[in-house]
Amino acid sequence: MANITDTKIESLANTLRKEFSHGATVITSKSEEYQESIARWSSAAEKRAAIIVFPVCAEDVSNVIKLATSNRIEIAVRGGGHSTSGSSSTEGGICIDMSKLRKVSVDPKAKIVVAEGGALWADVDKAAAEHELAVVGGTVNTTGVGGLTLGGGYGYLVGEHGLVIDNLLEVQMVLADGNIVIASRHREPKLFWAVRGAGASFGVILSFTFRAHEMNRPVWGGTLAIDIGEIDKVVEFANRFLEKSDPKSALIWGFKALSANTFCIIAAVFYNGPEPLATDLFSGLIGLKLHENFTGNRLYWTMNTLLNEDLKAGPRRSMKGSAFISPLDLKFAKTCLEDLRNLIQKIPDASMSIMVFEFLPFWKLFSFSQDCTAFANRGAYGNLLWIMGWTQADHDKEIRQWTQDMSSKSRQEFEKSRMTARIGGVVADGVGEYFNYDGIGVGGTQVFGDNFAQLQKLKKKYDPNNVFSKGPQLVLPNTGA
Ligand SMILES: Cc1cc2nc3c(=O)[nH]c(=O)nc-3n(C[C@H](O)[C@H](O)[C@H](O)COP(=O)(O)OP(=O)(O)OC[C@H]3O[C@@H](n4cnc5c(N)ncnc54)[C@H](O)[C@@H]3O)c2cc1C
Repeated sequence: MANITDTKIESLANTLRKEFSHGATVITSKSEEYQESIARWSSAAEKRAAIIVFPVCAEDVSNVIKLATSNRIEIAVRGGGHSTSGSSSTEGGICIDMSKLRKVSVDPKAKIVVAEGGALWADVDKAAAEHELAVVGGTVNTTGVGGLTLGGGYGYLVGEHGLVIDNLLEVQMVLADGNIVIASRHREPKLFWAVRGAGASFGVILSFTFRAHEMNRPVWGGTLAIDIGEIDKVVEFANRFLEKSDPKSALIWGFKALSANTFCIIAAVFYNGPEPLATDLFSGLIGLKLHENFTGNRLYWTMNTLLNEDLKAGPRRSMKGSAFISPLDLKFAKTCLEDLRNLIQKIPDASMSIMVFEFLPFWKLFSFSQDCTAFANRGAYGNLLWIMGWTQADHDKEIRQWTQDMSSKSRQEFEKSRMTARIGGVVADGVGEYFNYDGIGVGGTQVFGDNFAQLQKLKKKYDPNNVFSKGPQLVLPNTGA
C-alpha cells in the first residue's frame, strides 16, 4: 500500500467530493466528525483512516474503488462496524462507510425485502414487521446486515428457514475493477456462490434481496438469569432440547459474571408459536432457580433487541468462536465456566465478558449441501463463543491471547468429540468454525473446508490484486496463490 502525504490526502478527498453524487460526503482527520466516524462496536477495532467516504449510490462506490486502486491505497468497507478484528477499519487507507445506505423496501405480496448495504438488522426487522413479515437475521439488531450476511448469518429463525444466506436471493455489488453487477442464482452464479460465506473478499454490496417469511402473530421468548448452581440441569436440558430439535425453537445460553466471584447462567429462549407449547418446551429451564425471568409473548423484532444492552458498543472487545457437539459434555462446560472465573478474578476489568453456547436446531441447514454456497459450517453441532469486554488498552494483549487459547481448547474438544459423533445418521462434517465470530487470521480450509480451492479460483478471477483484503483470507501469503 502506498504511503500518502497530507497534501495528497486532501487532493484525493477533493477529487472524490467533485465526483460524488449529491448527499455523499468525504471526510479526513481534519473534519469535526472524524473521531465518531472511525468508532466501531469495539473501541479496540478503531483505526485511523486517511479518508472516510459516505457514498449514496453504486457509482460513488465505483469511483472510490477506481481512485483507491489507481493510487494503491488500502480499502476497508464498514457495514454495521461490529467485527472486532478491525476488518472494517483501515490504518491510513480509505474507508467506504455504508451508513448513508440504510433504506429497506418490502414487497409484501412477493414476500421480498431489499436492504441497502449499510442497513442494520433493526432497519430490516422493523420494515418487515410493518407487513407482518420477518427475515432470518441476527439476534442483536444493532449489527450490520452487511458483515453478518456475507459470513453466513445465524438467528432465531435458522431452525425453520436456514441461514441468512440461504434466504438471500440477489445482491447488487461493485467489484474490484469498479464494475457494478447483479449476482444471483441466475446471473453471475459463481460470484453469488462466493458471496454467500466469503462475500467481504469479493466486493462492496450495495443491496441485499432477501426472501421474507410470514410473521403475523407474536412469538414467545425472552431472557432468563438462572442460578449457577443449576448448571448440571441446564446442560441436561439443553442436550435434550437439541435432540428434540423443534425447528421453531432456539436456545442460546452461557455464563456471565455478576461480580468477580459470582456468576449466573444467562439464556435467550425463543419459540415461534403459541405460549402453551413454548412454556411446555422450556419448562425444564423455567422451573429452575431463576434470578430473572423476562419471557413472554412479544413481537418477533423486539426479540432481537433483548441482548442489545448486554452487548452494547463502546468497550474494547474481542470475539472468538469454535463449536461443540451435542451432547455437550458437562465437565467441559464447567471447565469453560472455571476458565472465565479465573480470568475475571485475575483481571476484574474483563468482568463484562460472557461465554455462550448456541443450541440452534440444525436439520434445516442440511437441506442445503455443504458446497451449495462458500459457507462450510453446516454440521450437527452448535457454535460456541467467547465475547470479551474490557476498558483498558493495557489488557489487550493478555485478554486477546486468553481468548485465542480458549478457542483452541474448545476446538480440541470439538475435534475429539466429533471422532465418534453421528447424530441421527448425520456426520458432523462441517468445518466447526464460523468466520463471523472473528475467524480473521484463521484462513483456508479451516474456515471453508473443501470449498476453499474454488474460492481461491474465483478470487483470482474477480479480485486478482486482492483489493478486498480485509475479509476472509483467500490469497495465501507469499505464494500469490
Ligand atoms: C453484538 C454482536 C452480536 C452478534 N450476533 C450475531 C448473530 O446473531 N448472528 C450472526 O450470525 N452473527 C452475529 N454476530 C457476528 C457478526 O455477524 C459479525 O460481527 C459481522 O461481521 C457484523 O457485521 P457488521 O456489518 O456489523 O460489521 P463490519 O465490521 O462493518 O463488517 C464486517 C465485515 O463485513 C464487511 N462488510 C460489511 N458490510 C459490507 C458491505 N455492504 N459490502 C461489502 N462488505 C461489507 C466489512 O468490510 C468487514 O470485512 C454478532 C456480533 C456482535 C458484535
